[in-house]
Amino acid sequence: MSESPVIIIRNAAATAKINVTKLRGNVSVLEGSGGNITVLTGPDGKLLVDAGITASRPQITQALDSLSPDPVKHLINSHWHFDHTDGNEWLHSTGAEITAHENTRKHLSVTKRVEDWNFTFPPAPAGALPTKLFNSEQTLHLNGATLALKYYPPAHTDSDISVHFTDADIIHVADTLWNGHFPFIDYSTGGSIDGMIRAAEANVARVTDKTIVIPGHGPIGNKSQLIEFRDMLVSVRDKISKLKKEGKSRDEVVAAKPTADYDAKWGGFVIDGNFFTRLVYAGV
Ligand SMILES: [Zn+2]
Repeated sequence: MSESPVIIIRNAAATAKINVTKLRGNVSVLEGSGGNITVLTGPDGKLLVDAGITASRPQITQALDSLSPDPVKHLINSHWHFDHTDGNEWLHSTGAEITAHENTRKHLSVTKRVEDWNFTFPPAPAGALPTKLFNSEQTLHLNGATLALKYYPPAHTDSDISVHFTDADIIHVADTLWNGHFPFIDYSTGGSIDGMIRAAEANVARVTDKTIVIPGHGPIGNKSQLIEFRDMLVSVRDKISKLKKEGKSRDEVVAAKPTADYDAKWGGFVIDGNFFTRLVYAGV
């Protein structure tokens, strides 16, 4: 691998343009800096799901100010990855308390090598660590809204959570959905293709046709896109599993192009068909 995607994403964030989309019930989404950032505004202070990349602080600040004058008081991390937690420290320094699954704090607290990104993360500074931790489920009441936080069994990592704004029926599903893109799967912290498929099944079962689905990456989605993503994962997994059972090596399976039918639609972002094939091969 050449340049780590971590470096590429961090550098791009300095000049990233942030798109602001108002959804419903005082919930909006900021797209453009790392993972999607969901924002709930109101008199209890803004709540953010995910923190974006630190280099985008000026653009994120401007985008947040465009929604309302409320200060940011609450930040939820959907999982430990840098493109969702990089901004933790500056948001905490301006007054945000950070909520996350306990494994998010665990991974951010220590040195972490992610081989598939060719990158070693140092321990996060103290101010970036989540201090409000939970294990399986938690309910928050803020700004007149109810938020149901729920842990996924290991899927993309072992720290993924969903945040359901129940009144507005908007669900942020962390990186268990990359809408229109092959997903990264982080085996270094408990992720697996089978876990991703289980999470995708759980997401499909949980939403209705009216639910607005906010993916970790990609455009704001809905139930039919959750189904399409689940079906893609299952189909690619089956193809690669069959080839591996025939005794083919990883390079032979990559050369067989098992994602060919999907590359045009799903392969245009960070993870191309070859990269995704290697990730799936590791887990079947
Ligand atoms: Zn992630």
